[in-house]
Amino acid sequence: MITITAVDPPGCGCTECLTGQYAPLDQATAQDIAALLSGQVSNHTSVDLRVTVTYTLAADRAIGASNPEAVCVEYAGTVWVLEPSDIVRDHGREGFTSPS
Ligand SMILES: [Zn+2]
Repeated sequence: MITITAVDPPGCGCTECLTGQYAPLDQATAQDIAALLSGQVSNHTSVDLRVTVTYTLAADRAIGASNPEAVCVEYAGTVWVLEPSDIVRDHGREGFTSPS
């Protein structure tokens, strides 16, 4: 269950981070990051996140019809390993959406 509404810059100590409405990036959980990628929480991080998605390309499928096997998000040596089921690619649209 996502209770935050935004991920803030690493080390942030603003009122919202202290009350738990936002999470500083360095304290964000994998679930928070999955919600960030899905657009469920706002991105206030002001940093670039490296996202690595691993697919297996089946012989009878195009990459766009394949589902991710692994999703890793990295920033400054911290790696969040996300469950691929947390992040489902919405074929033909930008970004990611969460499964409904
Ligand atoms: Zn903050």
